Amino acid sequence: AGPRGARREGGGAMAAAQERGALALLGPAPGAPCCPHGPALLFVKTSQGKEEGRRFYACSACRDRKDCNFFQWEDEKVSETRLAAREEYNRNHQPSFTHRQNVDRYKNFVLLPLSKRRFCQECQQLLLPAEWEEHLDHQFLCGISTAQLKSPSQLLYPLENKKTNAQYLFADRSCQFLLNLLIDLGFRRVLSVGTPRLHEMIQSKASQEEDFSVRSLLLDIDFRYSQFYTEDEFCHYNMFNHYFFGGEAARETCRKFLDEENGERVIMVTDPPFGGLVEALASSFKKLMAMWKETEKEGRYYSQMEVPMFWIFPYFFESRILDFFPSFSMMDYQVDYDNHALYKHGKTGRRQSPVRIFTNLTPSMIVLPEEEGYRFCTVCQRYVSSGNQHCDICNSCTSKDGRRWKHCALCKKCVKPSWFHCNNCNCCTLQKHSCEKIDVGCFVCGQAGHKRSTCPSLSHT
Ligand code: SAH
Ligand code: ZN
Ligand code: ZN
Ligand code: ZN
Ligand code: ZN
Repeated sequence: AGPRGARREGGGAMAAAQERGALALLGPAPGAPCCPHGPALLFVKTSQGKEEGRRFYACSACRDRKDCNFFQWEDEKVSETRLAAREEYNRNHQPSFTHRQNVDRYKNFVLLPLSKRRFCQECQQLLLPAEWEEHLDHQFLCGISTAQLKSPSQLLYPLENKKTNAQYLFADRSCQFLLNLLIDLGFRRVLSVGTPRLHEMIQSKASQEEDFSVRSLLLDIDFRYSQFYTEDEFCHYNMFNHYFFGGEAARETCRKFLDEENGERVIMVTDPPFGGLVEALASSFKKLMAMWKETEKEGRYYSQMEVPMFWIFPYFFESRILDFFPSFSMMDYQVDYDNHALYKHGKTGRRQSPVRIFTNLTPSMIVLPEEEGYRFCTVCQRYVSSGNQHCDICNSCTSKDGRRWKHCALCKKCVKPSWFHCNNCNCCTLQKHSCEKIDVGCFVCGQAGHKRSTCPSLSHT
């Protein structure tokens, strides 16, 4: 896949294997073995929809085998010695400081005069004077200000080259938009799952503006953030297997946060790495939602309700997300990023970001900025992008990518402007394609006629 495909892929050996053939996720399975990233996920190779070959466990979090090479056949007998060695390995592969230690270190750090506040860029770590010596031949920053401590996402380098984390940070405009939107909707608590920049914006406003009453809890696999936030503000969490690295105490922090005491309504906002693991993400998000229900007091009328949620993800995953969350709809708002050339908003030659907001809130409540060209479609009862024309035949605003789509009478639906109707394939597709039939639909967009590796949604035109 092109740069888009390479971006933000999460999910282990399986994502790579998906490139070669189909691979189905079967787990989270009870009793799964653990790697340093918590319980592994269960997979099986498939061919034409049928399971083929042995099932196996692989790391839930790491796409790159260099980051975690955990692998075990489902029916493999693992000796006591190997189990013990594995446990020891998992222990040794935890961060060198605990979250508690990092919180204490931070307290000492802020007591230091500016001249003694150093941040090691190689170790991505705040340094106390006693530690300077070990880092002398490392690059470091001096005079770390309070403002810098309040924006760790600027201080830390984004883990974009590591396929595992793939951090793409919101452009200020998009982050501000999201925050204003959820405030206008009346939310006062934000469960930030893999959205460190949104969390940071909330935290820093809360500390600066007296009448700002929004609170946020960050759940993220990037443990570097534990240097800047207390245990009530950050949980080390793996969203592919719903694993709290901090154990029961961290889980309880999250559960408490979801408890809407004082009537403070909570919303979950997530911007996960993308890959083939929508089902793993969906399973975790459902478990987070279930924690919210656990907190319910008796007689609450909304036991059937879901936690309000913004799931930020590319538009071509729409059908996959709706498979797991039928109540969700996709908003036209294009989410922009700072450190991704393709997703940056520019006045001239703007590249349109494929990243959208999926939500279970009523679409008409999601007001999109008119100054950026969004308008309200009274028929669809939602805001749409300027290029998205209402199609009278489909009776909806059909564009997914922001460009004006055209209606194909044969397909009985609107299609991308660059597609044409192929009588061989009996569907609309790219001009350049081979007419062979491929039985199974594409893993990414679900359409027949191509595989994931040649999906037009992923390739950059
Ligand atoms: N746009 C967001 C960042 C999204 S990038 C913002 O600006 O706030 C994806 C985020 O998910 C990163 O913060 C990354 O550390 C986190 N992440 C990646 N894999 C994860 C996993 N397995 N579990 C939890 N968080 C993960
Ligand atoms: Zn792992
Ligand atoms: Zn149409
Ligand atoms: Zn057609
Ligand atoms: Zn496709």
